[in-house]
This record gives sequence, C-alpha cells and structure tokens, in this order.
Amino acid sequence: MLLTISTEHKPATDLGFLLHKHPDRFQSFDLSFGQAHVFYPEAGDDCCTACLMLDVDPVGMVRGKGRNQSFLLSHYVNDRPYVASSFLSVAISQVFGTAMGGRCKDRPELVTTPIPLTARLDVLPVRGGEGFLHRMFEPLGYTVEAVQHSLDEQFPEWGESPYYSATISGTKTLSELLTHLYVLVPVFDNEKHYFVGEDELEKLLSKGGGWLASHPEKEQITRRYLKHRSSLYRQALARLVEEELEPTEDQAVSEQSEETLEKPLSLNDQRHGVVMAAIRSSGARQVLDVGCGEGKLLRELLQDRQFEQIVGMDVSIRSLEIAQKRLKLDRLPERQAERLKLIHGSLIYRDKRLEGFDAAAVVEVIEHLDPPRLSALERVLFEFARPQTIVLTTPNREYNVMWDTLPAGQFRHADHRFEWSRQEFQDWANRVGEQHGYSVRFLPVGPEDEKVGSPTQMGVFERG
Ligand code: SAH
Repeated sequence: MLLTISTEHKPATDLGFLLHKHPDRFQSFDLSFGQAHVFYPEAGDDCCTACLMLDVDPVGMVRGKGRNQSFLLSHYVNDRPYVASSFLSVAISQVFGTAMGGRCKDRPELVTTPIPLTARLDVLPVRGGEGFLHRMFEPLGYTVEAVQHSLDEQFPEWGESPYYSATISGTKTLSELLTHLYVLVPVFDNEKHYFVGEDELEKLLSKGGGWLASHPEKEQITRRYLKHRSSLYRQALARLVEEELEPTEDQAVSEQSEETLEKPLSLNDQRHGVVMAAIRSSGARQVLDVGCGEGKLLRELLQDRQFEQIVGMDVSIRSLEIAQKRLKLDRLPERQAERLKLIHGSLIYRDKRLEGFDAAAVVEVIEHLDPPRLSALERVLFEFARPQTIVLTTPNREYNVMWDTLPAGQFRHADHRFEWSRQEFQDWANRVGEQHGYSVRFLPVGPEDEKVGSPTQMGVFERG
C-alpha cells in the first residue's frame, strides 16, 4: 500500500521540511501492525515526491502481535496489507503527525501557506463507487482522478473490483491534505481495524474541525467513520450542527401541505399560543422542544425571558439547519445564543441530553412515529427524560371531515403514521400517565365543533 505526495511548489524540496523527513534518506518505522517506510523517488527544486509505504504484517497480527487489531485479520489472506485503510490513518498520524498537526520549525511560514499538492493512493477500496470518491473530495476543493482496477486483469469477464488508484490534487496546506486523508481513507473502506469508542468521536470532531460541519456528505462520513455506532453518530452530528455557522438555502417543503390545509384557521399559531400558555403557567425555566422542526415554537420561547435554557431537538438535520438559519443563531448576541441549543437526536432512543428539564413540548410529533415506536418514545420521554410537565399535541382525526379539500380517510400530512380520535388519544395519554406517575388534563386547540371537537388535541401531563 502506497501513499504518494508530490508538490511543484518552488522550491519543491520544502516538502521534506514540512514532512519532517529528509529527502535523501530512506526511513523505516515500526508500527503495531507492521512497518512504514518513507522515501523520496524524486526530490528536485521543481518537483518533489514523497512516498509512504505500508508493510502490514498479517501473519504477525494473526499470531497476536498487536493483539487488539488481530480480530479483523483473522485470516492470513485478506486485502488489508495491500489497500489504504484505517492502517494508513494510523501511519499518517504516527509518521507524519507533526506535519498533520501543522508544525514546522524550519519553515513555519509554509505551514499556513496553501501549496499545490497531489496525493495518490494505491490502492483505495471504495465502497460506494467512483461517484462517492468525487463527492468526498471535490467539496473540499480537490480535483479527483480515479482508475478502477478489474478483479483480475487476465480475466476481465470477472468484472470490476472495488479497488481504485485515486489521485487528488489541490492547493492546500500539507496539514489540511493529511487531515483529509486521515479522516476519509477509512470512510471509503468502511471498515476499522480497531474498536470504535468515545475517543474516536473526539478524534473525528477535532480532525474534522473547520471543514466537516459544512461538508455535504458529513452524515455519511460521520456514520462510516464511527463505524455505524448509532449513539456516537448522533452525538457527533449534533455537535456538527452546532458548529455549522452558515446553513445552506432554505428549500424545505416538508411542513407545507399540512400548513396550507390548516392555514385558514392559522391553526399553527393557535397551537403554539396554547402550548406556550401551558408551558408558561407551569413555571418552567428549562424547556425542551422535542421534534422542534423548523423552530417556530423555539422562536416564541426565546422571546420570553422566563425561559433560561431552551433546547430544541429533532431527528431531521435539514429541519435543524433551517431552524438555525431562521433563528439567526449565529447572529444572536452571545447571551441570547447561550440560552438556546439545537441538538440532533431521535425520541425513540434514550438520551441523557434530555434529562433535567422542567418542561417538554411535543407538538405534532407523535403521529410521525410508527405505532411500534411509540412505546419507545413513551419510555424515553416519561421514564428517562422525566420533565415535570409535558405538553403534547396531536391531530384530532374526527375533525378531518371539516376540511372539504381533504379526501375522506386521508391523513393531513403524508408523513403521518396515524391520526387519533379524541377517545384514542385520551386512552393512550391516561395509560401512559398512569404508568409513569403523571396526571393529565386535556384541552382543545382551535375552533371547537360540537360534534367532532377541535382540529388539534392537547394533553398536559404533570408529574405527581
Ligand atoms: N413541533 C414542530 C414540528 C412538527 S412536525 C411544530 O409544531 O411546528 C414533526 C417533527 O417531528 C418533524 O420536524 C420531524 O422531523 C420530527 N420527528 C419525527 N420523528 C422524530 C423522532 N423520532 N425524534 C425526534 N423528532 C422527530
């Protein structure tokens, strides 16, 4: 496995200073999984090329050298010695750690100067195809060339392999280039040779500082880097959302159809008005808005000084981005901004960040969950998060007949998984309340019809 880095910066031999490896020497380093060698096939004023060659020792590893890595190498024959994988990231950090960290005693000014750099990886396993390769590197300002290798050149009929020789070029600081490779190489491979724990999340966020939050593929990168550990993935994304300052243009249509339908009543405003009143009168200072969507209720909460700490959570990153933009979070005075936090998460997973609040609003959210998931939400909210007050609203299905434009039997929103009658809602709320030690009272929201009730129904749960 070979990583080649070249520059045509003048004088090109500055690369040796930046990498802290002398161009005249062949150097070898012992790593837990084998050896790394650094050498320069070319070192002139016009062009300089450094190679990092990895010599992964599968036999030694299977036999127990570097024991914690051995589980992935349980067979002598596998692709690990020959491909760019998380072993390469480890080698980059150990052999080129100073360069990646952006330190250079002899040429300090070069560390922050972008120079023309080209890196070639032989070979890179890409799960996701060549398009994925482009989508990863191009947003970071590289041009990408990729050559796919066939499984066996003598037998072209066997088809293509997932292995590529990939070349990326861009005007970057060496530290940026190494950092991008460090994070992304294992993402292509989608495997890690070591256990992924809490510290990997910190590593990702620190190495991804300044670029990952705005990368259009940040979700994929994060998910794959953290090897599909969903709790770490969610934490990482939440922190990336906080980090991202300039979300992209508002293109959301998500809530539109429901809003159009309910518009003549301005039901949305009425609902938020009633929810605000219930939360205010509970005396809450620390409030959660779960399933906060695009942040309309958050805006009202923010305007009321009673609320000292406001947290909005949603499962949709897109909605959180819109919320962040609409609330102009990056432009709020610091004291205001400190009161409000947006987090990414799902109400069907227990989440420590939801604990310790006085009140929670759950406005028009439960009907978006598949019924089997609802019991998870019950526990997450009523058993673990356990705020003093929970204000929860959901559509009243009986009212749907009042809308001429809504065909009979249809839900108000394409994403609704169910809509309850008043009886169904009250049965559910009473049972959940009883189970978890909450009393509940019910209030109509919107104009009340004698027969079918109000369009929205609300339950206010108080912990006894
Ligand atoms: N409360 C907002 C938005 C309601 S729309 C308002 O009143 O305007 C429903 C919201 O619930 C959407 O933003 C959706 O992304 C979110 N949601 C759906 N399932 C969720 C889950 N499991 N965890 C958290 N949020 C969820």
